[in-house]
Amino acid sequence: MYLIPVAINRPMRTHLDYRIARAQVDQIRRGMRVRVPLGRREVLGIVLDQARTAQAQDQHRYKPVSAVLDDAPLLGKELMDSLQWSADYYHHPIGEVIAAALPSALRQGAPRQEEAPQWLYLTDEGAAVPEDKLRRAPAQAACLAQLRGTPAPWSDVDRRAARALIDKGLCRLGPAPEMDPAGADSGRAITLTSEQQAVCDALPHSGFSVSLLQGVTGSGKTEIYLAQAAEDLRAGKQVLLLVPEIGLTPQLLARARERLGGRVISYHSGMTDAARLAAWRRIDRGEALLVVGTRSAVWLPFTALGRVWVDEEHDASFKQQDGFRYSARDVAVVRARAFDAPVGLGSATPALETLHNARQQRYRHFRLDARAQDAPGADLHVVDARGQRLRGGLTPSLARAIQSHVTEGGQVLLFINRRGYAPALLCRDCGWSATCKACDARMTWHKQHRSLLCHHCGARQAVPAQCPSCGASELRPAGHGTERIEEALQAMLPQARIARADSDVMQRAGAWQELRAQVLRGDVDILVGTQMLAKGHDFPGISLVGIVSVDQALFSADIRATERMGQLVTQVAGRAGRGRRAGTVLLQTHVPDHPLLRRLLDEGYDAFADALLEERTTNALPPAVPLALLRAESVDATAAMAFLEAAAQLLRAQGAEAIGPLPAPMMRRAGRTRAQLWVQNPSRAALQQALAASCTAIERLPEARRVRWGVDVDPADTL
Ligand code: ADP
Ligand code: ZN
Ligand code: ZN
Repeated sequence: MYLIPVAINRPMRTHLDYRIARAQVDQIRRGMRVRVPLGRREVLGIVLDQARTAQAQDQHRYKPVSAVLDDAPLLGKELMDSLQWSADYYHHPIGEVIAAALPSALRQGAPRQEEAPQWLYLTDEGAAVPEDKLRRAPAQAACLAQLRGTPAPWSDVDRRAARALIDKGLCRLGPAPEMDPAGADSGRAITLTSEQQAVCDALPHSGFSVSLLQGVTGSGKTEIYLAQAAEDLRAGKQVLLLVPEIGLTPQLLARARERLGGRVISYHSGMTDAARLAAWRRIDRGEALLVVGTRSAVWLPFTALGRVWVDEEHDASFKQQDGFRYSARDVAVVRARAFDAPVGLGSATPALETLHNARQQRYRHFRLDARAQDAPGADLHVVDARGQRLRGGLTPSLARAIQSHVTEGGQVLLFINRRGYAPALLCRDCGWSATCKACDARMTWHKQHRSLLCHHCGARQAVPAQCPSCGASELRPAGHGTERIEEALQAMLPQARIARADSDVMQRAGAWQELRAQVLRGDVDILVGTQMLAKGHDFPGISLVGIVSVDQALFSADIRATERMGQLVTQVAGRAGRGRRAGTVLLQTHVPDHPLLRRLLDEGYDAFADALLEERTTNALPPAVPLALLRAESVDATAAMAFLEAAAQLLRAQGAEAIGPLPAPMMRRAGRTRAQLWVQNPSRAALQQALAASCTAIERLPEARRVRWGVDVDPADTL
């Protein structure tokens, strides 16, 4: 009898074995998809290894494979190895790891490639059509514009418009074009500055290595990524550029296409399943393309990966925060190593673990902008909020500064790390406050939507007209969110044109693009917003940046809160004085003498990061000592703690230090009680070994049946 091990998209740490016929032994290989029975259903699975023989008398214990879906491995050796590495490193079930890496169409059995991929080309007639000819058929005009200069795969175009164009003889279908590696369709190059060119020359061009490229936003990092990508594409290689957010991709994509022509594709969760599948297939066919993508793009089936760039590498969004908690940045390094390709990590404010690796000489360290080494700006001032009478959350001196910049025709950016009107709604008479029924958290008052919203579980409630506890008729907001600050500023400066940028107003597609254009045109005097203002946007008209309420990060239970605060402040402060105007940055705080805040403001991000690294070393925290969390949550108030208690015994028996279990800083969220166990060992190998040796036993604990649990290796937060 012959058996094959199959990974199935279920939270199981062990694979399942299925029977195959002797004739299938050579046919079924690792990385192929099979259909197998599971309970009373049939599911899709991935073959993990070649067949092995087993005792014939055990035959009744195994079910046969129902169907084999591929004639060659869908997932090649390198990708299977990287997936297995990730399952081992993150201690997550391999079936779920593989599922995360596959576009949903392939998980449902779609063929690996279309029979003959169809591409849409302009005919000569189509090429001769003037741009404004199809004014009354905008979809067709857009499709025609898309094809100018470069054909497109059928799956990438608006099919209705395309069919109409084919009927008119303006387009035709054909096989995929032969890509000219010399770059007949390459775009317009720009000339790098001598500083950029020097970095470009110094960066490794081949062979595996990791380089940190540190430079403030606007220092020209992206142009370096694109210049190097052009070189790699000419050599027939594939390039991956990971970016933190979909929001950033449209501008970046447009720029990349300008430089590299049609050799640029995107890959992110905002795309349709069909578009994701099409992109996957092009990479699988080995086309030399630059992929601009978010986290999941790290799993594309590259065949000739020549280089990886990770932009804003410190960004928390590279770490998946639930289920399979992987870091796309770290997996990118693993995949590049397999291809013997260089990796570049770009940031103005590198993550502590990246700086640690650079200080230990594991990563090379390049700097692009001399300014990056200085303090965030000579003109950064602290506004001491102690004992001040705040109006609309602002001290009189910050309010005056805003007023005078607006009066003088400057633009002001005001950063508040809180959306909504007020983070709490209180009764002054009895002390009642609006709390979430499912979480240990206060509800945020969203005045505009006339509701109370829990930012942790999404629960929504009407605003009570009177105190539910004592019946008092007046409930008062406490604290300030973006809505309330916007309102207060408008009252102070009735003439000012104020715009707000937070996830509440920016939900609509294109909203950010519109606002950005308004700010660039000078139609906005004051821009009030949350961290979305910190990311890669350049507003040359901004002459004053105000930063309000970052204090709580200095006292957070999250071990990474201070690091993130430093990154945020540096990035936001970097928005000032980009244009001809000299910029002023005012940071309002109640703890102006906090040593880490002082370090950041007086000496800049690098000195601040060094101080934090020292503190982490003293406290035996990452990156000095590796950390994994075992997280558990349960509907029952005690089950999570009981489970982690039992898991701790198993881990300690394997030589890991297990601290806790402790209730999570937010103990109840979305109706579940949460707890965590900190698992450490000064040696990463020993930590990994202890986790590997315990996970299956942990999974089998009777206590495990009453909880949701998972391992979080290198956690992005400890909340
Ligand atoms: P970063 O990625 O560090 O934020 P970018 O590469 O986006 O910086 O550069 C900021 C701006 O400067 C962009 O508009 C970019 O096109 C422009 N720029 C950068 N380098 C050059 C160059 N060598 N020549 C012309 N424009 C450049
Ligand atoms: Zn009351
Ligand atoms: Zn809640």
